Amino acid sequence: MTDTILRTDGLTKRFGALTANDGISLSVERGEIRGIIGPNGSGKTTFFNCVTGFLDPDEGSVEFDGTDVTGWDPHRIARRGMVRTFQIVSPFKNMTVRQNLLAGRVPDRVDKQARVDEILEFLDIDHIAENDAGEISGGQQKLLELGRVLMLDPDCVLLDEPTAGVNPALEKRVLEHVRQLNDDGMTFVVVEHDMSVMREVADSVSVFDRGEYIAEGPFDEIQRDERVRKAYLGSASDEEVPI
Ligand code: ADP
Ligand code: MG
Repeated sequence: MTDTILRTDGLTKRFGALTANDGISLSVERGEIRGIIGPNGSGKTTFFNCVTGFLDPDEGSVEFDGTDVTGWDPHRIARRGMVRTFQIVSPFKNMTVRQNLLAGRVPDRVDKQARVDEILEFLDIDHIAENDAGEISGGQQKLLELGRVLMLDPDCVLLDEPTAGVNPALEKRVLEHVRQLNDDGMTFVVVEHDMSVMREVADSVSVFDRGEYIAEGPFDEIQRDERVRKAYLGSASDEEVPI
């Protein structure tokens, strides 16, 4: 039996003449780690924006956990249980790591102080809790960004390039945290360029190309898919897809 947590139907977003998301219909099952890949500009971030309320889609719908959340604002969607991280992180640089985690609104059920301590420990950033966010490394800022959304006690987390610009050691830690949270039942949708990461972490992969949803399946199948090869290479060829 399937248990769908997130479903989009015909999701479409236009910027003037450009159709950034062209009728995207996809479903994510509860407890899954879903990868999303696609060349730069294929509409991955726009999709996250439409799904989490940062942009209003022009057409189509978003259903989360059995509720139509199309057009809801991001706070309301977050309170309902779905949150996203940003590709470009922007912590409050003059505030400490702890203050950053305390800064956001959280659902009533969350005990803020206790949750902060829990997250600092879980992400292994308790030793930099009192450092200004502007002083910590880019990788640590990515962990802080993950911490920020974990404060909201979400059921489903959309990660936009969580390991971009992160050193390999920290990247490994980010992925370990994702896996551990997933083991405890959290659903993830992850946009990621690094295909070794995708292969390692994703249960299945969705592929975007020029705003369209072109393929879905296990990573190894996707890598052999002709449409996927075309999207990345410009033509189908026997070479390994450099994705
Ligand atoms: P990806 O995350 O896959 O790299 P994006 O969703 O960021 O792609 O962008 C998809 C397309 O939409 C790109 O051509 C981008 O230039 C365009 N785009 C994204 N956001 C905006 C915006 N706010 N205004 C106009 N065009 C945008
Ligand atoms: Mg993007």
